[in-house]
Amino acid sequence: MSGAQSQVVIVAGAGPAGMAVAAALSKVGHEVIILNRDIKFGGLAEYGIFPSKLKLRGGLKKQYWELLQQKNVHYLGNVTIGNGKDLTVEEVRGMGASAVVFTIGAQGTKAIGVEGDSAQGVFHAKDVVYHFNRLPGFGDRPFDMGKHVAVIGAGDVMVDIAHWLIRYKQVKRVTAIVRRGPVERKYNPKEIRSICANMDLEGINAEFARITDRLAKVGQNPDQVLKAFTDEFTKCEPKVSETKMGFRFLASPKRILVDGNNRVRGLEMEDNRLDPKGEDTVAVGLKEYYEFPCDSVVFAVGDKVDETVGLPYRNGVFTTNPNKTGNDPDDALFQAYDESTGKVMEGVFLAGWARKASEGLVGVAKRDGDWCAEVVERYLEAKAGGEGVNAVLERLLTRLKQRQSRPVDVNGLRALAVAESAFSGKTDCIGEFKFSANQDMLKHIV
Ligand SMILES: Cc1cc2nc3c(=O)[nH]c(=O)nc-3n(C[C@H](O)[C@H](O)[C@H](O)COP(=O)(O)OP(=O)(O)OC[C@H]3O[C@@H](n4cnc5c(N)ncnc54)[C@H](O)[C@@H]3O)c2cc1C
Repeated sequence: MSGAQSQVVIVAGAGPAGMAVAAALSKVGHEVIILNRDIKFGGLAEYGIFPSKLKLRGGLKKQYWELLQQKNVHYLGNVTIGNGKDLTVEEVRGMGASAVVFTIGAQGTKAIGVEGDSAQGVFHAKDVVYHFNRLPGFGDRPFDMGKHVAVIGAGDVMVDIAHWLIRYKQVKRVTAIVRRGPVERKYNPKEIRSICANMDLEGINAEFARITDRLAKVGQNPDQVLKAFTDEFTKCEPKVSETKMGFRFLASPKRILVDGNNRVRGLEMEDNRLDPKGEDTVAVGLKEYYEFPCDSVVFAVGDKVDETVGLPYRNGVFTTNPNKTGNDPDDALFQAYDESTGKVMEGVFLAGWARKASEGLVGVAKRDGDWCAEVVERYLEAKAGGEGVNAVLERLLTRLKQRQSRPVDVNGLRALAVAESAFSGKTDCIGEFKFSANQDMLKHIV
């Protein structure tokens, strides 16, 4: 270890970012206590990444299990931090650890902010993703999607939702609603393989014909754009349903239209044009409106952090130190900062999607965790040694007992893994079997 002695660090959140912080700090000899809201570790690697991506998920799981075998890594799942939860932020800070790193992801939902957004049949993408990944609280909730689903967005999450709707829900039609044009699509072309066998090519050609003039006006060649767009429909996974997948470009939902039972019947859409902006484009509303019929709407437009946790927050993000230190990586980027006092929160750090909501894939979150760990190490080197890990753990467990919380340690996770494997292949879960309620998991954890 480069620092003087081993110190205790609490990492809140066991997703890819938190596990990277824990791996890096434990590797250099520090004691790491991981507190995680979910019983299971992994965050969105467990409850976000599409459940049939067994190779990716399996690889991450293996890596995380190995980390949890380390003697200086201590795991407590089923522990939520926040006001009125198992522990408050201040309580965690007061447990005697030398530093606390929050890697709790982006758990807030962006307000949709269009009239009618509370109608039945309007969903946030994250809730849908949590549902088909069987996150407790979401797995058993009904998600009545109807026959025609409009998914707002053009990123990988839109594709994942369409994947579920096409291959598992087998709805009649899915339409991706995209504010700008096909050139500005954001999804990874490889991801489209899961749904490209169901592309409604006739509909896509008609849609390109509808917007051809608007593409040409910003110097985009409509024929070339169409070719590049459809050329990506290769190596498609075999078709399993008759669902038709289409796109509606240059369209912004302005209002959700409902029937007499407050159930979605369509969207009021505004047509957009594209204007050049530097190397990029922006969508500009044309004030021309039309009705777009659909039975449900999923907003896949990114997330924000959960402002109720109790960390300093502004405009969808937890605030970090605006005063750069000049180090590489810069400490300021990872230091929680209270704008009301104008001070860094001593010993409190942020990483992953808790620092930059909805930013990048697992590799990006991991790298953020690695950088944050470097910053924390620097902080620990300059700090006198704190308390021993047993004292911190005992304090934590005493407080959790007082709260009648039920933390789950690594032995509990092992018992759960054995119980779940006994069900494998016996249910209609996508991918591996998972219990979808905490009570069911806890029954198998002694
Ligand atoms: C739908 C979807 C599909 C994706 N598919 C892919 C893919 O195929 N490939 C890929 O590489 N990346 C994918 N990603 C991106 C990847 O999942 C993220 O980059 C990564 O998980 C972010 O890691 P994180 O640790 O910052 O946050 P998260 O993964 O969100 O982890 C946060 C952790 O914090 C815990 N937590 C939350 N709140 C609290 C609290 N209050 N107290 C204590 N603990 C708390 C949670 O239990 C969770 O374990 C996908 C993301 C989404 C949304």
